[in-house]
Amino acid sequence: MAILAILLNALLNALAPQSTPALICPAMIRAILRAVSVAFIFAAAASAQQPDFTKAHEEALKFLSDLIKIDTSNPPGNEARAAEYIKNVLATEGIQAQVYESAPGRGNVVARLKGNGKKKPLLLLGHLDVVGVERDKWTVDPFAALIRDGYIYGRGSHDDKAMDAANLEVFLLLHRLKVPLDRDVILLAEAGEEGTTQFGIDYMVANHWDAISCEFALNEGGGAPDENGKVQYVGVSTTEKVPRGLFLRSHGSSGHGSAPRMDNAITHLAAAVAKVGTFEAPMRLNETTRRFFQQLAKISPPEKAQIYLHIEDPASQQKLHETEPSYYSMLRTSLVPTIIHGGFRSNVIPADAEARLDVRALPDEDMTALKAQLARLIDDPQVQIVDAETQNLRPATPPSGLETEAFHALEHAQQKVFPGVQTIPIMQAGATDSSELRAKGVQAYGIGTPASVDDQHRIHGNDERVEITGFGKFIDFLYTATLEIAGAK
Ligand SMILES: [Zn+2]
Repeated sequence: MAILAILLNALLNALAPQSTPALICPAMIRAILRAVSVAFIFAAAASAQQPDFTKAHEEALKFLSDLIKIDTSNPPGNEARAAEYIKNVLATEGIQAQVYESAPGRGNVVARLKGNGKKKPLLLLGHLDVVGVERDKWTVDPFAALIRDGYIYGRGSHDDKAMDAANLEVFLLLHRLKVPLDRDVILLAEAGEEGTTQFGIDYMVANHWDAISCEFALNEGGGAPDENGKVQYVGVSTTEKVPRGLFLRSHGSSGHGSAPRMDNAITHLAAAVAKVGTFEAPMRLNETTRRFFQQLAKISPPEKAQIYLHIEDPASQQKLHETEPSYYSMLRTSLVPTIIHGGFRSNVIPADAEARLDVRALPDEDMTALKAQLARLIDDPQVQIVDAETQNLRPATPPSGLETEAFHALEHAQQKVFPGVQTIPIMQAGATDSSELRAKGVQAYGIGTPASVDDQHRIHGNDERVEITGFGKFIDFLYTATLEIAGAK
């Protein structure tokens, strides 16, 4: 999630110099027409009773506050307590939920609202675990859910308990208003997303797929960057780069530092790192990244728009590489040397040296072929390329579509709740549990609460917080999208 924040920051920065256009342009006319057509859709769907959104915001804030107070720092997680909390809230409304324990204390809670079965289910997904805190660096108690100056503070307030609370609220609203559904709506609040997916999504997919099987899923991973309380755009993540770390390991003979050797492990490794560090994997856009740069061009100042509109041009890529590395990373698989080890005494030639590469692969990357290409590039039998991780690997999956019912519903919800901005599909540099769902054929979309650049930096950081008004808007957005995706037509 932290990487997404960087990406969103970069996008926000790109927008910053832009001023409000004074004249009505064709894009605005199109937006107005779109808004009008959306208004018709909503008029048609408004036969169901409208929720009292003000009450819903208050109730969801209480859920969020209660969830923050349940410390689910992972490790150890202890998500079962939060799962039981949600189960109890549902039980008081007469909804039966089931907690699946993947290990003692690692709870995943699932509930379902039945539809008429015309279409396959929609899954509302959130994770219950949070990353740990550096307590002495926080200015507030990270588990007290303090409310101050329009914000609620706490670990997980943004990532991902805002999503859990909003999902729960929307689920309850649909139930209370007896909204007729063409699809089942499934609620899943799961364990282990922060680095231990074997207790959460991997466990659920492997052992309880029947309980969560769906056509569409809404999950964390997107966002709505806001500047001075105004949302700049709604980012919906449809795909993500895949972490595939590598080691470069070089071996030579050891000996006295005064006697130079041809097979010095450090010299050979350094040459390999230099080659890989400046290597550019082939550029490849997918549907999401192509649309991303097109949309970005529309809302960027002219000099930036020129870069985004001519992204295939090497000169544009060079500029992007220099000024917006997170966007540059969306063009290709990136291989970044991050750690280098070798040697222990100034007068000893070590037998081994090792470098770590942070590799973020495009979703369709053929890693076997890429490693073969690297081996040819390095062209040194003394240097081996080795996979850094073999466990808990997120699957590489094709992006979710931009012309699906769910994506269109998110665009319509954005037009209603955040009028005057755009929905921009995003390929995240970071990883979420959507990848496991996409591997099962689910069209999964990442969304998120509005957050300023400062608030985005606090995700996984200190003094994490969520702006309460923005959180309310997010509930309206989620409810509106869910109603269009799952409501009976
Ligand atoms: Zn998260």
